[in-house]
Amino acid sequence: MKSIIYQTVYWLNDILRHRSVYKKYRFYQKNYARFTINYREEKLAKLLQYAGQYIPYYRKLFKDNKIEGIKDFNDIPILTKNIIKKTGLEKFTYPENRKYDVVKTSGTTGQPTTFWVDSESISAAFGAQLFFWEKYGYKFGDRIVNLWGGAAYLQSIRNLKKRVLKKIKNEFTIPSHLLNTEAGLNQAVILLNQIKPQVITAYSYSLYQLSQYIYHTKTRLSFRPKFIITTAETITLDQRQFIENVFGAPTYDQYGSNEVLGIAFECPNKTGYHIHVEHIWLELLPGPQNTYRIIVTDLDNYVMPLIRYETGDIVLKQLLNNPCYDHFGDILPFPIVGRLFDIIQLPSGEEVNLMPTLIAGLKTESYIEKFQLHYYKRQNTFELQIVVNSSYQPTRHNERIINIFKENYSDIQLNIKVVNALLPESNGKFKLIKVHET
Ligand SMILES: [Zn+2]
Repeated sequence: MKSIIYQTVYWLNDILRHRSVYKKYRFYQKNYARFTINYREEKLAKLLQYAGQYIPYYRKLFKDNKIEGIKDFNDIPILTKNIIKKTGLEKFTYPENRKYDVVKTSGTTGQPTTFWVDSESISAAFGAQLFFWEKYGYKFGDRIVNLWGGAAYLQSIRNLKKRVLKKIKNEFTIPSHLLNTEAGLNQAVILLNQIKPQVITAYSYSLYQLSQYIYHTKTRLSFRPKFIITTAETITLDQRQFIENVFGAPTYDQYGSNEVLGIAFECPNKTGYHIHVEHIWLELLPGPQNTYRIIVTDLDNYVMPLIRYETGDIVLKQLLNNPCYDHFGDILPFPIVGRLFDIIQLPSGEEVNLMPTLIAGLKTESYIEKFQLHYYKRQNTFELQIVVNSSYQPTRHNERIINIFKENYSDIQLNIKVVNALLPESNGKFKLIKVHET
């Protein structure tokens, strides 16, 4: 009964917000196994045709590059945020009569880029989210706590309609910037114990921070969630395990970005990410060193088609154990490790991506609780800031860390600095690598 009431709430939510999340969810329930390559190619061909006809940027690009259809797909140049910014939003958009959300994303340069995200695209992403959550154990009406959001997100949910809808959907938000202070952490735990969520969604790193606080203060949790959704922010397997132990619940990773939602969902068996093939055309192209770059085409965004769009994320070329080829379309059998933009250009012109070294190299070093790499461009020096536990032995361990880096980059000057805490950015996300221009 409760479930039916809440399904009605979702349905109502769609009507009020011009979306079709619930409809998509039902569609996926019935059809997820049937999205054949033909079905997907048809969707892609339709998008290409539309873009070539109505979107100024693609009209010119397709003409100049003699792109006539899906057979020439691989000749379409990769689209980047930079190209969008330089070309101008108006060359990429055509509103017709479609509904859409306006989102802004900030790159490492700090200058935001504006995107229009089609309602159809939002619905496909959230519809699939419901579909996958159900596999993880979600029932309509379960209490959800979202542990995220910087000031901008909080501003957006001040909107009364959105707030009311969240309320009746049994969804709560605890701002993740609370987790930057001891008092805030304490407050977050009190709130969680009051709400007793069945589902927690969070930026991985914030949640790791909270887990550490709960563990070290021996705080008792008065609830046990069914599962926890983490975003594909870079945390190590050990950190994930730690979160699972503290909350007594499995974590599942979800991958998407502000501008392209719902790209992939972790398999319920935790053996890779299932690509949301009905909505996303995903390609892996060679990346720096031992990585692939993730390139996506959003098959549902017609107000602002993004074709062969560089997400800026990379995966490690390192097959997961027993990747799942069994259900829900294609599998991404690699760990998603982070942002391509974390590539650092040295004064010599050489580009280095230290993410694989950081993730693969440091994750087994159990004396390190948190780490963050700082690069000071002007001095060309690296500083690894670490938060350590009691098993840390400065001389021995510092040498180990330096050797890990030297194995990959013999000429990097690395200093190691022990700090008490490492905090996320003001938007609630944590950066593993920070570049200082001065
Ligand atoms: Zn699977």
